Amino acid sequence: MVDWKNPPRLFIPGPVKVNDDVLQQLARPTLAHRGKEYAQLHGETTDMLKKIFFTDQNVFLSTSSASGIWEAAIRNCVGFDETVLAACCGAFSDKWATVAGNCGRNVEELKVDWGKPTLPEAIDKKLAAGKYAAITLMYNETSTGLTNPVYEISKMMKQKHPDVLVFVDSVSAMVALPLHFDELGWDVTFASVQKAFAIPPGLTVALVSSRALEKSKDVPGRGYYFDFQLFAKSAAKNQTPTTPNIPHIMALNYQCKKLLAEGMENVWQRHKKMGEFTRNWAKEKFALFCDEKYASNTLTAVKNTRGFNVAETINAIQEKHNTIFGNGYGKLKEQTFRIAHMGDITLDDLKELLGWLDDEIG
Ligand SMILES: *Cc1c(COP(=O)(O)O)cnc(C)c1O
Repeated sequence: MVDWKNPPRLFIPGPVKVNDDVLQQLARPTLAHRGKEYAQLHGETTDMLKKIFFTDQNVFLSTSSASGIWEAAIRNCVGFDETVLAACCGAFSDKWATVAGNCGRNVEELKVDWGKPTLPEAIDKKLAAGKYAAITLMYNETSTGLTNPVYEISKMMKQKHPDVLVFVDSVSAMVALPLHFDELGWDVTFASVQKAFAIPPGLTVALVSSRALEKSKDVPGRGYYFDFQLFAKSAAKNQTPTTPNIPHIMALNYQCKKLLAEGMENVWQRHKKMGEFTRNWAKEKFALFCDEKYASNTLTAVKNTRGFNVAETINAIQEKHNTIFGNGYGKLKEQTFRIAHMGDITLDDLKELLGWLDDEIG
């Protein structure tokens, strides 16, 4: 029987641990979504998000998980006669390429081995050799624990391929890793809130550039639920096109206030420290799955060099300590395991978990 009063502590790379004070925000009274109280909540929240991501462009709140915006970016900004270049470096980037294909668009993949980064030179070469309307990129590939050099890639894109739209999945990066949206010149980026925002799942924050919005006007078949034009029209009134999950937006508002009070530099630094701590443990006891240079500060994928049974160990730690960490993703199951260190997870939480792991696998 599940003990609902004492649910497991989460160290999986999403959903992550949610603090009680954040949970309380989801219990506040519901507002009328066309009323002035909601508009105030919406406007205040998106204004804070603009500061957090250093942007003056569009911020949309989508009542969906992040996968909805995978689809939205493609359906709003890529015509049926255009081609998307999908930079693939793991399970999530692969899935985005599949989604683009499912939306009926032409997709070409630029693949690297899992654990390897997508590098600017490879993208440049591919883009120079063909005609592409957009590129899909992963900021942080959650299946391999890898952070792509997105600042370098963006610099190259601005210099050499300024007309290609840049869509970036920042799901396991947003808030925890630097993201200067306007300076980077990105067109669409997004994250669901169950990752580094440390809120229960059910809401996604999307940033959309003015030029992406402009382009979407002429793209046919955008659908309804994720139509950027409708989002923009509503956002001008501090509303969403359909009824939003207001409890989550209250929690998001609360988390944004805390992030700004802490200061983004400090937030990034806090994640860096947790990343370094976990990597040091991983290197001493095992090995990192990806090159250390590209290892993520939001989660660590550890190579299971000792061949222990990951699933059994996860069960054992849950039995004894009511705590769950992540097995490897997809084909990396058992070969790797993953520990999240993002959002409201603390260094003390990590010390406790890694201590239990040490006890379990000696
Ligand atoms: C979790 C995750 C997703 C999927 O997000 P949902 O909110 O479940 O749709 C996509 N991309 C990355 C990198 C992720 O970590």
